[in-house]
Amino acid sequence: MRSVRLPSVDKVLLEASGLIERYGRSRIVLAVQTSLAALRKEALAQDPQKQMEAPDIPSIVESVAAALEKQDRSHLKRMFNLTGTVLHTNLGRALLPDVAVQAVVDAMTSPTNLEFDLDTGKRGDRDDLVEELLCELTGAEAATIVNNNAAAVLLLLNTMAMGKEVIVSRGELVEIGGAFRIPDIMQRAGATLRETGATNRTHLADYRNAIHANTALLMKVHCSNYVITGFTKSVELSDISALGRERNIPTAVDLGSGTLIDLEQFGLVREPTVREAIEAGADLVTFSGDKLLGGPQAGIIVGRADLIAQIKRNPLKRALRVGKLTLAALEPVLALYRSPELLTQRLTTMRLLTRPRAEMQQLAQTLIPLVQQVLGAAYMVAGEEMSSQVGSGALPVDQLPSFGLTIRPNPSHKVSNPLGRLEKAFRQLPRPVIGRIANETFLLDLRCLDGDQHEFIDQLAFLKP
Ligand SMILES: *Cc1c(COP(=O)(O)O)cnc(C)c1O
Repeated sequence: MRSVRLPSVDKVLLEASGLIERYGRSRIVLAVQTSLAALRKEALAQDPQKQMEAPDIPSIVESVAAALEKQDRSHLKRMFNLTGTVLHTNLGRALLPDVAVQAVVDAMTSPTNLEFDLDTGKRGDRDDLVEELLCELTGAEAATIVNNNAAAVLLLLNTMAMGKEVIVSRGELVEIGGAFRIPDIMQRAGATLRETGATNRTHLADYRNAIHANTALLMKVHCSNYVITGFTKSVELSDISALGRERNIPTAVDLGSGTLIDLEQFGLVREPTVREAIEAGADLVTFSGDKLLGGPQAGIIVGRADLIAQIKRNPLKRALRVGKLTLAALEPVLALYRSPELLTQRLTTMRLLTRPRAEMQQLAQTLIPLVQQVLGAAYMVAGEEMSSQVGSGALPVDQLPSFGLTIRPNPSHKVSNPLGRLEKAFRQLPRPVIGRIANETFLLDLRCLDGDQHEFIDQLAFLKP
């Protein structure tokens, strides 16, 4: 029988009082048992001729401590988004400004009037917390909030068109990354998609001809992440909504990103605003909270009071509603829009989107020698102009003038897959750095390195490609 003399669980526990204090006894008993079982298994797998040396108790305690520390490491990590995509869906989209963060902390740690009417002392509606503000900012009569814009579209379609038809132009059957497709969401909402027009051209007559007794809704979807160019035509929202009014059929618009202000004033490409959609006669408009708006993940529906009331009565609303943390964050973000010209200072997303290239260029001058130093002769680090993008399907053609680091492998150093190794090394830093590879170059767009460059610099010592 191959064997190894292992200490008993009790003996190990006697020397693990520090760990017991930190993690609680039951967890340490389990961890020690697991550790001893693993050692026993390892001993049995050994060559019987070579007796395994029994590990001493302090080293067992040490390995238990290391295992527990690893187990407790958070899976949600802070990162550096140097991809050049500001609203990166996989990296959590919009970053919240401090006012919103503080409001979330308050809502987490104190009871709030989430659904409590302070005037009457009776039960309130959580949407009331932001409804007035949304109406003020968009010109709509009423508003309701759900978990994200996909939920907003689902709820709207289910409420307005279950068992009925919705007319959408063939040029607007959008797929957003992460499996959101207009035809699929339509089906799940219980509505039937009635496509009209052609991919590149749709006329008002196409909408008119598609209407029949079972038509419940005319819908326009903002082409968030693509542009159709060439011989094209789409119908103005105002014409569609006029047709809808003539035939007594509501018009809905899924704006996707849905900005509240004219972005041209900040040198960005124009996107239709929510107010413009309302003014053009849309009865309902849906948009995201964490795209261009710069707030928490949420889906916002604004529009006619009678239709919003109908949507709120849908039992699905209860399943799709937002939590208090979302509402806490949303209100101060919306409030910032009352002073549009201050948004580039106060709203993180707007600040990042409008950051001048010179600022990133200056930062690059500081970083280039530091990164070059840790990478050594195997790589060549330089600073170059590059283009960032907004991301999340917002402003798909807009390229923001940016500046960043370019890192190229030194061809005289023969290592296999140098770019892959470099990308991985940055990704495996304590606070992972995510860049992008293009044209045999690793790019670190500095647009979103804003205020935390010292943390970036401090961890460079750990970089080991
Ligand atoms: C982004 C987007 C959605 C989905 O919004 P989420 O907030 O990500 O759920 C729906 N429709 C359009 C047009 C979009 O751009």
